[in-house]
Order: sequence, then C-alpha cells, then structure tokens
Amino acid sequence: MSDINWQERLSPGVNAIAPSGIRKFFDIAAQMKDVISLGVGEPDFVTPWSIRESCVYGLEQGHTSYTANRGMPELREEIAKHFQRRYDLTYDSNTDVLVTVGVSEALDIAMRAVVAPGDEVLIPEPCYVSYQACATLAGGVPVSVAAKIENEFRITPAELEPYVTERTKVLLIGYPNNPTGAIMTRDDLLALADFAKKHDLIVISDEIYGELTYGGEEHVCFATLPGMQERTILLNGFSKAYAMTGWRIGYALSNPTIIAAMTKIHQYTMLCAPITAQMAAVEALRHGEKYMKKMVAEYDRRRHLIYDGFIKMGLECFEPKGAFYIFPNIAATGYTSDEFAEELLKAEHVALVPGSAFGACGEGHVRCSYATSVDKISQALVRIENFIRHHKKR
Ligand code: PLP
Repeated sequence: MSDINWQERLSPGVNAIAPSGIRKFFDIAAQMKDVISLGVGEPDFVTPWSIRESCVYGLEQGHTSYTANRGMPELREEIAKHFQRRYDLTYDSNTDVLVTVGVSEALDIAMRAVVAPGDEVLIPEPCYVSYQACATLAGGVPVSVAAKIENEFRITPAELEPYVTERTKVLLIGYPNNPTGAIMTRDDLLALADFAKKHDLIVISDEIYGELTYGGEEHVCFATLPGMQERTILLNGFSKAYAMTGWRIGYALSNPTIIAAMTKIHQYTMLCAPITAQMAAVEALRHGEKYMKKMVAEYDRRRHLIYDGFIKMGLECFEPKGAFYIFPNIAATGYTSDEFAEELLKAEHVALVPGSAFGACGEGHVRCSYATSVDKISQALVRIENFIRHHKKR
C-alpha cells in the first residue's frame, strides 16, 4: 500500500465530478445472463454498408495519415452544404466548421474555449450526463435548472431567470433531449433566444438528435433563430443519426473567433479526427439520408410500442417526440429510481438507467432506450410489468 494520498493530488476539477451513473448498471448487467438492455444510448443498427465501404476503400487506397486539424476540406464542405440545404444557414467551411472526435470532444472544447474560472453555465435538467462534468472540468460552475414533466420537459426563460447572475456566461441546451425525448417548439426556442440576447449569453446547442424527431415534429435548429447564428456553438455528429457511435466523429459550427479558439485546443489535444471516420462521414452526408430515414421510421415504430406499453402498465409517461429515449415516472411503485433500476435488473434482468443519473429532477423516473429490437422491447415490457406487479412497494 502506498503512503501517498493520491486522491488529494488529483486536480480539484476531477475530484469535483462523479463517475457517470450510467455505467454502474452496465457493469452489473455484464455479469448476468439473459439481460435485456434498454440502457445504452446507442443505435442497434450497424452503420449502413455504403458508409462502411467508403472507409474500407479509403484504407485500401492507403489513406492512413493525419488530416488538417480542422478536418478534411471535403468533409467541412459537405457539412456546410448540409446546413445550407437543411436549414438555409450559411457557414464558411474554412472558418466556421471544426471536425471533432464525436460531439463529446466538441462539447469539451467548446466549454474550455469560452468558460473562464468561475463563469456560470446554465444547464436545464434532466440532461446528458456530460454537461455538468464538462462545465466543471473547464473551471466553470454548472447551474442546474429543473425542467418539469407538466411542461413536457421543455425549459422556459421564467424557469431560467432566477438562476441568472453576473457570472452567467453560457446556456447549454440539448434538444431533442437525452434522457426525456423532449423537443422544443420554435416558439419555445424563440423565447430562449430573447433570453440569451437579454443576458448576452453564448448558447451551446447540442443537436446530436436533431434528425430523430417523430409524429411530424420538425427539429428547429437554434442557429436559425434571428440573431442566434453568431451566438451559438452548434454541436452535431454522426453517432446517432447514422448509427456511427464507434467511429467517433462530430463537429462544431460557430463564428470564426470561437471556431479558431476551439481549433487551438483541438490541435494540441487531439490533432485531428481519424481520417477513415472523416471519409465515412463524407459518404454519410452525400448518400446516407435514405438509410437514416429508414432507421428513424423504425425508431418511431418502437417508440409507439414502448409508450403504449408503459401507459397500459399505468405508469405516468410523457410521450417522447425525439431522440430514442422514454422517461416513465416510476415513483408510484414506491422505489427511488436507483432502487427500481437495481431491483428490476436483479429480479427480471432488464437494464435501464435511473433518472437521477441525469440530474436531481430526474429522480422518480427511469430512462429506457428504444434503440433495440421490437422483440426485445416487447419482452422487456412483459418483465417490467411482472416486476411492478410482484415487487411494488406500495
Ligand atoms: N450529446 C448527447 C445528448 C448524447 O446523448 C451523446 C451520447 O450519448 C453525446 C452527445 C456524445 O456523442 P458522440 O458519440 O458524438 O461523442
């Protein structure tokens, strides 16, 4: 045993953050047989073949080098063209686009580029597990603001306003939302845009699930709102829409000053995103839309199945409109969300994630991913119903 207190020698930032509450359950589940996992936030599809093929072809041609720090020019051009086509937004591929190692890296360096020690970052919750951690590691202070189920987990300026101080610098939003499946309407976002202008905030908008909306709901890109393009650091990537989690490829779009600042950090810490993943991403943007739309249609089918299942069980459940998560309220069973997830896993071998992993206001809920087969979802619903019938505390 060492006499040195290693914990004390770690950076205050790393000591201030807790390990993700998601992984704990996967570690337990990994040691069990017959587990049905609704836990992972990852498409169950394999990346479409034409996208994989472009990587295979790239390797065959000997493309094994670094690329430009900002990313291959072809990919940056395709990203800029995509935003012009899809949202009528003009980004200069030379100055306004940075290709990153997933949205994860983009989020980290966006935060590090703009947050000074002590700056406050407003974060509506429930939210993706990395948001608070990235703000803290950048030296900032994450300020959680609870969204309410009564308002379908949309956030309003009135809810944010009491948390604004002189140190508030960034508003970090993620819609369609992980873990709730909530989306924001144009009017909701217009109100947030006014709020951002009023308090002179930078908005980091994580739109990784922007292609995954259902029931005729169209995703509204935050940068399309009047005056917001310049103020927004728009984050997006390929992991969810194109089933490319393992490729580790994402990007950030913003004004040239912010992109240059993020590029400096990226250049010293990451150098560039993997070349083969960048080649595959070019193919995804050029020809991947039809495959993506098929996957979205399939998620929608599963969404109906799982939503109907929870409603039939009598659980209070908000109908998700985006991403591939559903966030039923399990408080009526008498369990905390942590207990529910653990006991369900032990008794019925279904893995899901306690809502508390996504912020204190997620307590009483559990997150289920429906990015898994109809068959598995149906079986999981039977098991969850069994669990509730036999193990309900009250
Ligand atoms: N943002 C959100 C909201 C996510 O849910 C995830 C992954 O689950 C990420 C970012 C990370 O994405 P990437 O695979 O591009 O790093």
